[in-house]
Amino acid sequence: MSKKYCYLFSEGNANMRELLGGKGANLAEMTNIGLPVPQGFTITTEACTQYYEDGRKINDSIMAEIMQYVEKMEQINGKKFGDKKNPLLVSVRSGARASMPGMMDTILNLGLNDEVVEAMIKGNPDPKFKRFVYDSYRRFIQMFSDVVMEVGKKYFEQLIDQMKEKKGVKFDVELTADDLKELASQFKAEYKSKIGSDFPSDPKVQLYEAIRAVFRSWDNPRANVYRRDNDIPYSWGTAVNVMPMVFGNLNDNSGTGVAFTRDPATGAKGLMGEFLVNAQGEDVVAGVRTPMKIAEMATRFPDAYAQFEKVCKLLENHYRDMQDMEFTVENGKLYMLQTRNGKRTAQAALRIACDLVDEGMRTEEEAVLMIDPRNLDTLLHPTFDAKALKAANPVGKGLGASPGAACGQIVFSAADAEAWKAAGKKVVLVRLETSPEDITGMKASQGILTVRGGMTSHAAVVARGMGTCCVSGCGDIVMDEENKCFTLAGKTYKEGDYISIDGSTGNIYDGLIPTVDATVGGDFGRIMSWADKFRKLKVRTNADTPRDAKKARELGAEGIGLCRTEHMFFEADRIAAFREMICSDTKEAREKALAKILPYQQADFEALYEALEGNPVTIRFLDPPLHEFVPTEDAEIRQLAKDLGKSVEEVRGIIQGLHESNPMMGHRGCRLTVTYPEIAVMQTKAVIRAALNVQAKHKDWKVCPEIMIPLVGELKEFKYVKEVVVKTADEEIAASKTKLTYQVGTMIEIPRAALTADEIAKDAEFFCFGTNDLTQMTFGFSRDDAGKFLGAYYDTKIFENDPFAKLDQVGVGKLMKMAVTLGHEVRPNIHCGICGEHGGDPTSVEFCHRIGLDYVSCSPFRVPIARLAAAQAAIKDRK
Ligand code: ADP
Ligand code: MG
Ligand code: MG
Repeated sequence: MSKKYCYLFSEGNANMRELLGGKGANLAEMTNIGLPVPQGFTITTEACTQYYEDGRKINDSIMAEIMQYVEKMEQINGKKFGDKKNPLLVSVRSGARASMPGMMDTILNLGLNDEVVEAMIKGNPDPKFKRFVYDSYRRFIQMFSDVVMEVGKKYFEQLIDQMKEKKGVKFDVELTADDLKELASQFKAEYKSKIGSDFPSDPKVQLYEAIRAVFRSWDNPRANVYRRDNDIPYSWGTAVNVMPMVFGNLNDNSGTGVAFTRDPATGAKGLMGEFLVNAQGEDVVAGVRTPMKIAEMATRFPDAYAQFEKVCKLLENHYRDMQDMEFTVENGKLYMLQTRNGKRTAQAALRIACDLVDEGMRTEEEAVLMIDPRNLDTLLHPTFDAKALKAANPVGKGLGASPGAACGQIVFSAADAEAWKAAGKKVVLVRLETSPEDITGMKASQGILTVRGGMTSHAAVVARGMGTCCVSGCGDIVMDEENKCFTLAGKTYKEGDYISIDGSTGNIYDGLIPTVDATVGGDFGRIMSWADKFRKLKVRTNADTPRDAKKARELGAEGIGLCRTEHMFFEADRIAAFREMICSDTKEAREKALAKILPYQQADFEALYEALEGNPVTIRFLDPPLHEFVPTEDAEIRQLAKDLGKSVEEVRGIIQGLHESNPMMGHRGCRLTVTYPEIAVMQTKAVIRAALNVQAKHKDWKVCPEIMIPLVGELKEFKYVKEVVVKTADEEIAASKTKLTYQVGTMIEIPRAALTADEIAKDAEFFCFGTNDLTQMTFGFSRDDAGKFLGAYYDTKIFENDPFAKLDQVGVGKLMKMAVTLGHEVRPNIHCGICGEHGGDPTSVEFCHRIGLDYVSCSPFRVPIARLAAAQAAIKDRK
């Protein structure tokens, strides 16, 4: 049998979301449980997919099926399309599998034309009815022109404003039937002047065009952005619902409303919503007049309100979740037009989930599945004061690289950030891009704004680690670092000017928007404790400092999955020694310089072990290319030369010698150890001595250092480095006359390492996927430059997501899966984790669960997200 593309509401149910979309499935479900729903039909999401496959056309056989269902709808309702006596008017509504409020299009009052309008008026002598008919007509022309022909709302709104002015009235309800009639003909003229042909009068043509427009709206820019932000695949498509109109704009005994069964901001139980008398569709939300509180309906529309209250209870019990409903009252009678599980703030989500468990409506597992992990972000960081934010207009937008809200005075250098902070000021650091040297300045800032760089740029990664708000890659900023100013949206911002940035949305605001601190209530703890019961994956954190590690422990981290030791080299007390090492000519000189750093490193590691209280700590050996550590400023170079007793030319020569045309693929990672084994010797000593000391202090802890070698691509390479580590470590342990176990493992971040994981597992005791580099090397494009062309890749649908933010499961994921399998074949107890940025991304975490990793590791503030995502993956897996 050929595919069925249309379903009457009476043929569907709530489980058919994939086919009927959320709106269609719920209209069917409400029909099934006997609620008053105008009876129409749904055109499936598969018809939408087919429309795109056919080159954006509705093919003849689908169109024929649609017309068949129009006839069925006509029979059920006893009205006919375009009929002079008993005309059927319909709405044509979008509705995808996942709700995308306001992203796609809807058209109301379809089926009207001059003759139908005449006939309707003739059938009812009430002058108010005439007004209603023309009101519906002008609305239809307006929506059809806007949605179907893309004429643009504003021309019609201008005409309405002119008419109101001419008549000296303030609100559209004050316009008379004749005014509206006049408007309708003005609208049609406007349509003709913009489109070049007459407004279509045949209802069947109107319907065809409207359905096509809804399919097309799946691909409009705002829908595409919304999908990317919300993990909704492009391939899903939208369904279309065609249903008879009911009229909230019929008279003063009618109206339209929206309501929630619980407060979507706080989660508090109790009906809330708004109702607008003599109105239609979006009037309530569009703010054409001030609506009444839903409770006031009780006096104006007692019967409809009583019934609505019952419907709300019924729906909430039925769906066992907070409902967001749209309804209309026509002549005192209630009609339900939509219900869905309501969107809510993170805070409300937690409260509702807990309340539903307490009310006996949901199990703990179900409650865990109800929370969108991505929303937890907003709970842990400051946010803007909601009122102040509403009044503010963004002056620019970058990437929301690290969540939270920040406001402060602009500074242009890390040093200034520190100085201003010391003077008691709040600052936002604005840079072209940040570099490792900026760390202390970044710490001193409320937020960080960069002109260049993507989600895994230095600024983004470091800011997320610190939990500091960051907006990266705002290319619209024209920067003048030298004169300490930049321009954005036509305004020049100087040092000390106030600015506010939102690291969740990427929005940038002029001036100061007050922020409120995060509050995490008891509901959060309850949900997280349930999550911990169900998850199989362990969650570790990426942390380089005891402060970050402590924060991560508070947020539930069970270990450190990645400590990047290079950050420790930038602190003022060691960078000099490290530069001395880099500029040394002999091994002895290098060892001498490294010996100065050793006690600092050891102290760093001791503090980390202390903070982790016996939980595992993975320490990655030095990774970045050495040029990142040498000075770039003239004065600093001269100072360095002086310190080293070398000539300035000599030092400059050394620095130039470090230059690489492709540093990310250059002299870095384990390649540094192959050339300078003494660096690994020093780092091993520091790790082992620290572990021995902490173990001696805390007999009940089991300190087992995990030493991780970066950028390995070949077994012999790993072996060479491991031998250096083992020799040093064993000597240290022997000298201490105590016992200590340790492991030496590797990052898997070069495709060749994944491909030869069975080889590497012969010697590596653990694997940790560095998916930032692995993604970069697998795709062959640099994470720092991808921002330049990713936009074009989204537009052309080559990519739907940033592969640095969301793991590419098809390609990069295949390499990971292969490495896990190969590794286990050779070493059955090898433990595998991930420590790239993806470790805190919910869908990527789910993937990690599926391929059998032992743990994910992410920045401290993402730990709760990963815990929840891991629990959801485990629960879904069991089902
Ligand atoms: P969205 O998905 O953007 O909410 P909808 O398809 O729900 O768009 O339509 C918006 C509004 O139009 C609804 O909330 C409802 O008020 C109105 N509407 C839609 N269909 C009908 C109808 N058949 N009768 C009366 N009003 C309708
Ligand atoms: Mg709606
Ligand atoms: Mg790496």
